[in-house]
Amino acid sequence: MRVAWEPDGKVWRLAFRLDAEDSITGHCSDGQALKLATNSFRVELPREPREIHPDLLALAAWTVVAPWTRRRVVFDRPVSAELAEAIETGWGIGAGPVGGAPRSGSRLAVSYSGGADSAAVAAMLPDAPFVHFQRVPHPRVPNRWTHYRSDVLARLAGETGRELVIARSDLEFTIAEPRPGYPEHHAVAAGALLLADELDLGGLAFGYEMGSRWLGGGRYLHRYTPDNPMWSPHGAWGGAFAAAGLHIVLPVGGVSEAVTMRLALGSALREQVRWCLRGTGGPCGTCGKCLYKELIQAAIERRPLRTAITADRGVARKWQQPPPYGGQEMIEYGCARVPGIGETVFAKAAEFLRATEESTAWLERCYPPAVEEVPEPWRKQVHDFMAEEVGFMSEDEARRVETWGLS
Ligand SMILES: [Zn+2]
Repeated sequence: MRVAWEPDGKVWRLAFRLDAEDSITGHCSDGQALKLATNSFRVELPREPREIHPDLLALAAWTVVAPWTRRRVVFDRPVSAELAEAIETGWGIGAGPVGGAPRSGSRLAVSYSGGADSAAVAAMLPDAPFVHFQRVPHPRVPNRWTHYRSDVLARLAGETGRELVIARSDLEFTIAEPRPGYPEHHAVAAGALLLADELDLGGLAFGYEMGSRWLGGGRYLHRYTPDNPMWSPHGAWGGAFAAAGLHIVLPVGGVSEAVTMRLALGSALREQVRWCLRGTGGPCGTCGKCLYKELIQAAIERRPLRTAITADRGVARKWQQPPPYGGQEMIEYGCARVPGIGETVFAKAAEFLRATEESTAWLERCYPPAVEEVPEPWRKQVHDFMAEEVGFMSEDEARRVETWGLS
């Protein structure tokens, strides 16, 4: 794999070329197969940056090209020995050329999507600036996903009143299948990486919560994942970001989506929180994500489910089948707490799961090891917030995390 950045004012374009051993079908760090659509993308920054450290440019490129790289990656500028070593260790991929000193920075920014998880992070870090990634169309790939309202999410981010930079990029269209998206989850940070010197960033806070970090959330299903390759500090990506002087920070890594939603809806950002990518004047109320989040919100508000979605709808189909489910801990939590769950599209899931308030009480507290792995400069702030606003799990409750998926 060979990558080359070309700056044009505030727009940075990247073109990459596969080597003979590379393949247009690759795999994301979470195991998802990805088919390549095109070999170029751009990142548009809010202003022309001063010089950008070569490690930041290389890592931003790596968040996109890693899935399709088999043996080696050749960057267009020499990277530090530290970053090359991190890529070798994390992926078994040779990286170069090598030369130059590593970088460092001091501030923490929030990778802000506008959803409940990142709003909860924002509530914990009231002085941290936001970096928002906005999807824009790719000049060479037809946009069949016009329902994805990235413009609405960017507008809402602007209405938070926080210090904000928006990076606009078409990098998601490098994927043909299964659909456009981040080639690696970390590609959402491409803009933050290119701005890290400008903003003196030493850390980037993501809204990944306990399910994603510790319970094998998302495409991983139902198992305890202390060595999560994407989000553990000692994983491949944790090592690569640390080598580039931009530590991955997961302030809500120890709490469930019930807690992040409670924090988000109780925060000053309540009016700007939006997890649905479809609605313009509000969440669409008809997509699978709206249904899932409605279950969690109804549970924390202790009220019946408000939805027009019926069991025969496609987005409700998986809840008619037996578990395991993605995000199963929150389905258990919701089924145990929403009044009249037996009359809803989750009735069958509730019967399968047989969860109770007691069996899901651990999902209302913080898993202590998640705070211990927050890098030192920001650990106390996260610890004190958790102690004050959430509370920590007992040893028995922590064992629920560590045996998740075993019973
Ligand atoms: Zn929706």
